[in-house]
Amino acid sequence: MDAKIRLYVEHPLGDGQTVPLDRGQANYLFNVMRLAAGAQVLLFNGQDGEWQAEVSQAGKRGGELTCLEQTKPLQMPPDLWLCFAPIKKARTDFIVEKAAEMGAARIVPMQTDFTNAGRVQRDRLQAHAVEAAEQCGGTYVPEVAEMQRFDKLLGNWDLSRRIMFCDEALTSSASGFLKGQVSAPWAIFIGPEGGFSERERDKLRAMACATSVSLGPRILRADTAAVAAMTLWQQALGDWS
Ligand code: SAM
Repeated sequence: MDAKIRLYVEHPLGDGQTVPLDRGQANYLFNVMRLAAGAQVLLFNGQDGEWQAEVSQAGKRGGELTCLEQTKPLQMPPDLWLCFAPIKKARTDFIVEKAAEMGAARIVPMQTDFTNAGRVQRDRLQAHAVEAAEQCGGTYVPEVAEMQRFDKLLGNWDLSRRIMFCDEALTSSASGFLKGQVSAPWAIFIGPEGGFSERERDKLRAMACATSVSLGPRILRADTAAVAAMTLWQQALGDWS
């Protein structure tokens, strides 16, 4: 019987491995989805690939699943980070969800000069990344990092990681910049609603590992820009081609 439900668990997966369910997972499987003993689900944990598992114990406050067979090996996304300045909550949630679906390996909220959002709830954003992975069939869940100040992030930057700096101030379209680039570790930088400050723009432009890119002649919302930039990068250097 083909399992339809995919569940992310923080537990090793393997042949015959039993997986205890926490209260929330038991509630979802047995009360919301009304599964009973013998039903099958797909499990993944971000390391061991995807496994078909059977409900071996179903209870109100807990339960247990038993792994039957691996249905998908771990498929790592390309080594691409999305570094973005948080905007309004719902749109920030959207950015994290899209980044997880589109194959970011890591998601880094960054505090820039014009970022309005004071702080982000990392756990809540991480839960959005998990949900996106469950929905899109991914076997890997990108880490949502703690919010970092722009200067600190660049201060510790590994120069072997190239930066796709989405610069709304660019007028000439730098399309095609990705052609011939190496698919080394990369990061996409997206600014806040108010954009990058001149100071930040100068800092990024001075970095040999950074390439300024236009995303066309119109100013995109940060969430639109994040999706557009990831599409360009994935198509040119990622795992979409
Ligand atoms: N400062 C802009 C303005 O004057 O309205 C708004 C910034 S935009 C809402 C947020 C971020 O999306 C920018 O900092 C940039 O990273 C990216 N972005 C938006 N439109 C872009 C474009 N046409 N080219 C490159 N990046 C763009």
